[in-house]
Amino acid sequence: MKINKNFLDLEESYLFSTVNKKTREFIASHPEADVIKLSIGDVTKPLCPAVIDAMHKAVDEMADEKTFRGYPPEQGYDFVRQKILENDYLARGIDLQLDEIFLSDGAKSDCGNIGDIFAADNTVAICDPVYPVYIDTNIMNGRKDKIMLMNCTEETGFLPEVPAAASKAPDIIYLCFPNNPTGAVASMEYLKKWVDYANAHHSLILYDSAYEAFITDPAIPKSIYEIDGAKTCAIELRSFSKTAGFTGVRCGYTVVPHKLVFDGTELNKLWFRRQSTKFNGVSYITQKAAEAVYSAEGQKQIQQNLSFYRENAKLIFEGVKAAGFKAFGGEHSPYVWLKIPQGFTSWSFFDELLAKCNVVGTPGSGFGKMGEGYLRLTGFGSRERTIEAIERIKKTFGK
Ligand code: PLP
Repeated sequence: MKINKNFLDLEESYLFSTVNKKTREFIASHPEADVIKLSIGDVTKPLCPAVIDAMHKAVDEMADEKTFRGYPPEQGYDFVRQKILENDYLARGIDLQLDEIFLSDGAKSDCGNIGDIFAADNTVAICDPVYPVYIDTNIMNGRKDKIMLMNCTEETGFLPEVPAAASKAPDIIYLCFPNNPTGAVASMEYLKKWVDYANAHHSLILYDSAYEAFITDPAIPKSIYEIDGAKTCAIELRSFSKTAGFTGVRCGYTVVPHKLVFDGTELNKLWFRRQSTKFNGVSYITQKAAEAVYSAEGQKQIQQNLSFYRENAKLIFEGVKAAGFKAFGGEHSPYVWLKIPQGFTSWSFFDELLAKCNVVGTPGSGFGKMGEGYLRLTGFGSRERTIEAIERIKKTFGK
């Protein structure tokens, strides 16, 4: 028996384990310290009442022989896909078909699994810094030497640059907006450049819009399909995790338009084959929960939570600016990307912030080489603790 050696090419992921270990050690040696975590990439507000009610009802249905449900359809029940179609797409002028939507247990699985339907010798363009799943899953699929990193720097507004016409085009391009970790967002004009580029070179864009619900400016696209021509070049990945607090419930979806044809084959067909073979669907209870997100009460309630996180991010952004730091993101995003002062690395500043303010961030270098020199702070904490953390940062670092 031989193992899949591609796994040996993966770098150990020390980021969150090291953050937790260092925090634990600090607390152990400073038991009096009141440590505040602005490193949390997870929601903290409970599920909204509309969702909870729907889940309770679904549980009762499962208890009765007449309404009990067994295996769900692999792509998701029509009742929830219809809601997605109408609310997330038709309402924004995007016309999709029901069978172009694939419900799943979250965007992480889809980001990783989608690689199954592409050949191992495709070249892959991925941003640096980035959500680590894109790189790691491509390495697992044997594409280690096929990864082309796109530097996202302050100079480019943390947006990857569309490659020059003369260079060899990547086969697959990962884009994520609003971005984790930088909080950068993409305008219509900017995304149009990528869509035109992908269509001209017959490249495929994998568009991760897990944080689209944080966008408040109507001029900023929430979906790549708001751009003309995207249906022939882009797959979109979405999640209920940050939108509706489903990080523990688990539900997301991926859109694969029929117009995506590569090597003479519809990607929709391949993804359907992959999902119906390796995935047995999202639980009925979870799908009823997802459906409830689209009810009038559900929409109102999730917006309250989203506003709360957005306001936290804004307070952090303004607070660190007032303390004299340069910062990015914090708008249309739960993430603030803090530029750390000269003389520190991401990790040494992490230590400094923990020691001086008892505040935990996430070192930018953990998201890639270009993240060195930055620290990610998040708006997912409580208001009181967020304000307290900002006050400490202002007091310690403010002029
Ligand atoms: N995509 C990005 C950019 C993320 O940051 C995350 C989670 O943090 C995900 C996808 C995963 O979302 P899910 O909880 O739906 O698996």
